[in-house]
Amino acid sequence: MDYNVAVIPGDGIGPEIVREACRVLDAVGTKYGHGFHYTQVLMGGASIDATGVPLTDEALATAKASDSVLLGAVGGKVGESSWYELPPNLRPEAGLLSIRKGLGLFCNLRPALLFPQLKNACPLKDEIIGEGFDFVVVRELTGGVYFGERKTVTEGGVRRAIDTMPYDENEIRRIARWAFEVAMKRGKRVVSVDKANVLDTSRLWRQVVAETAMEYPEVALSDMLVDNAAMQIVRDPKQFDVVLTENMFGDILSDEASMVTGSIGMLASASLGAGKLGLYEPSHGSAPDIAGQDKANPIATILSAAMMLRYSFDLVQEADAVEAAVSQVLDAGYRTVDIMSEGCKLIGTKEMGEQIAKRI
Ligand code: NAD
Repeated sequence: MDYNVAVIPGDGIGPEIVREACRVLDAVGTKYGHGFHYTQVLMGGASIDATGVPLTDEALATAKASDSVLLGAVGGKVGESSWYELPPNLRPEAGLLSIRKGLGLFCNLRPALLFPQLKNACPLKDEIIGEGFDFVVVRELTGGVYFGERKTVTEGGVRRAIDTMPYDENEIRRIARWAFEVAMKRGKRVVSVDKANVLDTSRLWRQVVAETAMEYPEVALSDMLVDNAAMQIVRDPKQFDVVLTENMFGDILSDEASMVTGSIGMLASASLGAGKLGLYEPSHGSAPDIAGQDKANPIATILSAAMMLRYSFDLVQEADAVEAAVSQVLDAGYRTVDIMSEGCKLIGTKEMGEQIAKRI
């Protein structure tokens, strides 16, 4: 099959890490008989320098017309780069908001995948970590309290602030479907996280998720209160496969989940919408402090490309092959500087990409 991928290198280490992810995709193409065709798209500071804005309409149209989008990172050194003298809506990060909105992305996937080879970076105890853990947080991205009506008033001389947390059943159903689809490609278990003992939105959430589960009889669904979920992630992260939750709970739990894996250079992410098109990017930023020095860890971007294979292109075997190649390179003792430990072999961005590509 042929796939058109819009590639957004962005700023800082973005071009270096995206280059290595494309190298690995090309190795997948050669091994499994696929063609990945890349169209470069400007965004962030690179786009400001070339066009005056962080994302042009043409760039967004190119991304929309592609089968999927692979992004490095955008942004420069705040306080040093002239990009930050511009008004907020013209700064590099405004490109991110525009592309997420323009592509209609309402579902965020953040895997918490701990390779056992890196368990000394994990803050949890050995007996909790075991052979590592692998779960994914599916977070609703465009509804709930972050988007509900809000106001601050003064009543009788007392300041009062009100935020509202609306969800309708269609918003819940479409994110629940993504969680079940993701589970079908993984361990077929969904834990839906809410606060149904207190919130009406959570009670509706629970009902609609249970109704949606009927469409996926192979997937085991259970519910968990958010306070308990926050504890369980540090008490026994191995119990989870897919964690489904609303916007604010997901904001908090996905950060907690990424912290327990320890290393920022290893964390992938994806944002998805109604169709198959997704935006795949590492969770970290553009790391201007190490840009252009062949020091950045490209694995988060390579694992993001693996998610693209799995979720946008349904190439499950190929995605497994990328993750296995990463694991083999770690087994062989190769490390970039951010994950370096005693007795391992220090390599740069390019060599890490090459080592992974040749094991596909
Ligand atoms: P950052 O994630 O870029 O860097 C934090 C620290 O982690 C730095 O020391 C950096 O060297 C290190 N690091 C990050 N990724 C690494 C990798 N792959 N390999 C090795 N080390 C890595 O966060 P920051 O310094 O707060 O932000 C830098 C810029 O990135 C800012 O302009 C910020 O706005 C932007 N940013 C962009 C995104 C995005 O594009 N999605 C996300 C977060 C931050």
